[in-house]
Amino acid sequence: MIENVFSGSDVSEFRFWMGWADRYVILTHMGPDGDAIGSSLALCHYLRSKGKQAVVLVPDSAPDFLKWLPGADEIKAYSDNPAASDEMVSKADVLCCLDFNVVSRIGNIASAFLYSKAKKFLLDHHPFPGSYFDVILSHPEASSTSELVFHLICALGDFRSMDLNMAECIYTGIMTDTGALSYNSNYSSLFNIVSHLLDKGVDKDDIYRRVYNNYSEDRLRLQGFVLCEKMQVFRDKSTSLITLTDEELRRFNYKKGDTEGFVNMPLQINGVLMSAFFREDKEQGIIKLSFRSVGDVPCNRFSSEFFHGGGHINAAGGEFNGTLSEAVDCFLKGLDVWSGSSEECIRRLFVK
Ligand code: 5GP
Ligand code: MN
Repeated sequence: MIENVFSGSDVSEFRFWMGWADRYVILTHMGPDGDAIGSSLALCHYLRSKGKQAVVLVPDSAPDFLKWLPGADEIKAYSDNPAASDEMVSKADVLCCLDFNVVSRIGNIASAFLYSKAKKFLLDHHPFPGSYFDVILSHPEASSTSELVFHLICALGDFRSMDLNMAECIYTGIMTDTGALSYNSNYSSLFNIVSHLLDKGVDKDDIYRRVYNNYSEDRLRLQGFVLCEKMQVFRDKSTSLITLTDEELRRFNYKKGDTEGFVNMPLQINGVLMSAFFREDKEQGIIKLSFRSVGDVPCNRFSSEFFHGGGHINAAGGEFNGTLSEAVDCFLKGLDVWSGSSEECIRRLFVK
């Protein structure tokens, strides 16, 4: 039996829209990850199964390691055709916003989104959802937005007709947002969902291999370089920092997605409680920031206090406008400010 985690009125509003709305555009965040793409494609398959026109529109394209997902070849990237994308957004009846909480996370799609008269539906698990949405289903306690898509389909009474395409996309999102069920996943109802997905025919071992054992040689060598030469460990601060310049990335023929997971690696070191990874992005003219932490150390607060970023308590990110060395200075200053904090969860970072 699947518990309905949504309040009746929120889902009935979406159900009501489904009575008249035909055109759905599903939007997700810049630099889409497995949960962004998995949840979006799962909802897209579901809406199509209900006879709706549905398309997934992302600000920039998905990384190669997600391209095998059913329906991934039909995803539209805003950057490939801005005019057609704007038109799609303006003509939509419903804009489904998945796996992001604030409009700035959809980059160049934001202005078409704000102008659109479509109904705006947010389904997400990031804390602090922004405004601009007509219906908000925000569940920060959920492992992933993909888990919430599973709940949505069930709440709409369609668990039985959930097909293998939907199930594979949902499982991929759950798996990638929980490090293959190794964090953010300590509750039995999630395993109940996984069990239902296996019953639908999902081959979880195969999905694991497709996502995690499918790297290029360049990527693996870049990982070696990072661990050997680029990872700084600040033992007295229980913290680690990895930086990569554009020049270093090019040396290893960097492709989108190649640095996925790097930020998690220093957390394998005994005593490291927070890890940061800064990547120079020459194309966008920014430094892309990623933070990870363990337990009650709030890396989302670190990201928002010092970089105007955000995210979950143990996984956060942001963008820095400036040089890589300025970003590093800001990071070190942030650690200094935090070291003066009397809060227990933060103080733990500075225990020698
Ligand atoms: P990642 O390190 O995988 O890029 O991001 C981890 C999490 O941080 C994301 O799930 C998202 O919640 C958050 N995040 C990433 N980039 C940004 C950003 O630029 N701004 C904000 N507010 N949150 C971000
Ligand atoms: Mn997510």
